[in-house]
Amino acid sequence: MIEVAHLTRRYGSLLAVDDLSFEVGRGEVVGFLGPNGAGKTTTIRILAGYLAATKAERLVVAGHDVQRDSMGVRRSIGYLPESVPLYPELRVEEMMRFQGRLHRMERQVMRRRIPEVLERVGVQDRGKQLVGTLSRGLKQRVGLAVALLPDPEVLVLDEPTSGLDPIQRGEVRDLIHSLADDRTVLLSSHILAEVESVAPRVIILHEGRKVADGKPAELAASLGGGGHVAVEVMGAASAEDMATLIGSLPGVDSVATGDRVGIHQSFQVRGEGDLREDIGALAMTQTWALRELSWQRPTLEQLFTRLVTGRGLEDLDGPASSGAAAAPSPMLEAEPVDLPAAAPVLAAGLELSSGPAESSAPPLGTPGNAGSKIIYSLNPFDRGASRDLSKPVSVDAPPEAVSGEPEPSDGDGDGESAS
Ligand code: ATP
Repeated sequence: MIEVAHLTRRYGSLLAVDDLSFEVGRGEVVGFLGPNGAGKTTTIRILAGYLAATKAERLVVAGHDVQRDSMGVRRSIGYLPESVPLYPELRVEEMMRFQGRLHRMERQVMRRRIPEVLERVGVQDRGKQLVGTLSRGLKQRVGLAVALLPDPEVLVLDEPTSGLDPIQRGEVRDLIHSLADDRTVLLSSHILAEVESVAPRVIILHEGRKVADGKPAELAASLGGGGHVAVEVMGAASAEDMATLIGSLPGVDSVATGDRVGIHQSFQVRGEGDLREDIGALAMTQTWALRELSWQRPTLEQLFTRLVTGRGLEDLDGPASSGAAAAPSPMLEAEPVDLPAAAPVLAAGLELSSGPAESSAPPLGTPGNAGSKIIYSLNPFDRGASRDLSKPVSVDAPPEAVSGEPEPSDGDGDGESAS
């Protein structure tokens, strides 16, 4: 439904969008992310037919060639700009009729469609109210009603919840969720938690260039941070011995020994798939009391910061505890392409995700490129989600491990074993 090939846009000498290419398929909901000035609005305005590209090989939205038929695009997509251009002196229904005429809608169609969309966005009782007297959240809803009026297959929403309070934001987010059921949606936002909850796929821009495109879980895996299992146990054995036993489980790549919280010892375990069943079974055989056994995946915010700053996920989690270095993951054998140079505090303009925060993570098997120009191609294989937890594997500790002579846990001798 949306095809962008080699799009470039300059403002004078400033390169706002730099050779950008991506596609959004029918029915997909895609989050468009990037720090301030990344080029999101510029791209969206071009796609909506309101701004010309400096150069593009192909720009197609809802079947219209944007460069040749911008009016066709404008009429057939629903576009909610960052600042909704409503008419304060008109009543809601008057403004909707005005918009309908701009879309060349027939009178009977408008008569049916206007109450329909006002109801869909929950402002059916505001038809007679002056637009200028609506609250910000209601204005945003009316803006969405305008975008929905032509019953578009494609919705392009630029920061739809900007400036709203948390309650209004939640309401608009739910609304977008419901609208996304039967439409293609491109949604730009700074609010990563919001994007994560609505869009299964994200495109991340930085300095006009695409630095990532995929599902957050895939991005995490590609960045060497597909997640880890957080373990907190109490047992008679020393932390070192426990780490060694955990490290000897099949599929474990690394075990980082974390803090001791009272009588409980924490570990972060990375490896092949979701290892909770195996670790739980090990705890039982060793008569350890388990206080925590949970799967932790990086938040979109952490991934985003990783991508635009080049910092490793372990840096974003806070100081890592002593632990085994993870072996370089096969997922990191990704083709390196240019990533914009590391930027200092690019996440500053972002609203932080309210998703589950990671506790301290072990050093990741990043290819030593923090701060350098690397982008990772995505691996569509989410290891963390693929394991069939109904089929536990045997977790009998190998005799060497029990006898205190740990095997290298990384399997290829590159990483260190647990400390
Ligand atoms: P934000 O999240 O802050 O809205 P954005 O990702 O939407 O940022 P754009 O608004 O597309 O970014 O801006 C990209 C770059 O182009 C920025 O450096 C911005 O200052 C610049 N820019 C945008 N519009 C213009 C304009 N009309 N004239 C000159 N420069 C512009």
